[in-house]
Amino acid sequence: GGGRPGKAELQKARMRLSLQEHLWAFFQERVAIPSEEQAVARRAALDICAELRVFLHAKLPDMPLREMYLSGSLYDDLQVVTADHAQLMVPLILEKNLWSSVPGEDTIMNLPGFWLVRRENLEYFPRGSSYWDRCMVGGYLSPKSVLEVFEKFVAGSINWPAIGSVLDYIIRPVVPSETLTLEVQYETDRRLYVDFLPLLVMEDGVSLIAKPHRLAAERHENLWRQSFRVAETAKLRTLDQEDSGCRCACLKVIKAVCKLNPALARLNASQLTNAILLLSEQEGDWTQEALANRFIQLLRTLVGHLEAGRLPCIFNLKVNLFCELTPQEIDELGYTLYCALSDPESLLRT
Ligand code: GDP
Repeated sequence: GGGRPGKAELQKARMRLSLQEHLWAFFQERVAIPSEEQAVARRAALDICAELRVFLHAKLPDMPLREMYLSGSLYDDLQVVTADHAQLMVPLILEKNLWSSVPGEDTIMNLPGFWLVRRENLEYFPRGSSYWDRCMVGGYLSPKSVLEVFEKFVAGSINWPAIGSVLDYIIRPVVPSETLTLEVQYETDRRLYVDFLPLLVMEDGVSLIAKPHRLAAERHENLWRQSFRVAETAKLRTLDQEDSGCRCACLKVIKAVCKLNPALARLNASQLTNAILLLSEQEGDWTQEALANRFIQLLRTLVGHLEAGRLPCIFNLKVNLFCELTPQEIDELGYTLYCALSDPESLLRT
């Protein structure tokens, strides 16, 4: 310790400096989306959302919904590389006395972060008392069945070619899709994918979305996924505002790396955001000059969590954000990132 830095340390410092420069150059050239492109994509999503509202009100006037709205990284300035996707949130209204939520850890599936929504009081309020009883499977509200209701409506009773020609887009439902997705071609070479995301906001403020468990075994079919997205994004932004930090920039860089590198495509925004939030609890320096150091640390954090097979969500440590990856996927992600530790710039050459 002490004294002059050794040769290895100097070389390391030089490497860091150039990584720092490369990261910001990558950010400008590949990660950031021109604001004009974002605006056009947002406009297209908004047009579709407006049309759908009109059709839903006209064709399914009894369906108890709150107003649909658009959400996702395109609206939080966290989208990277191309402005190509958004979520259309569809909040269902549930009668408080007829439905209750059961946390996944209290079920035989023992899955924190997922919930069952149970129909209550069937003896006093028989089947049919709630509009959503039509989506009840085995006493629980089935997200799959809810999605099917919308699927029938969106794919079956809306004349997309006609609406598309009025709006000057080419619109088609994507089949098959894991959720329910519309493809909107808004310029000859630009496409936007809009996911329908039915949503339940429970009494205790818990948000549940109808996005199936990825390794959907039959017994997982009734599970609703808890969404922490609003809290995660707000937390990241607040921390950055407090110290003019580079957490959002760091997130965007790693998101772009994962989007551009097929071997890392399995890592999603929620996992990456939580990894940065966890790192923020240990690391105070998020100045723009520290980007390279924090980026390398982020890679190391991810490798560590992948080795452990576990990445907790900071809003509920029981939730394992890697629980939908297979052991083989975890190995491959860990291996790719581990190799990148000795040459982080390789991640930027895509
Ligand atoms: P990106 O897709 O990587 O740009 O990241 P986003 O932050 O836009 O996340 C979108 C993903 O999060 C989608 O796969 C959604 O299904 C999922 N998600 C979970 N909860 C929410 C939510 O409350 N709102 C939105 N828009 N997406 C959510």
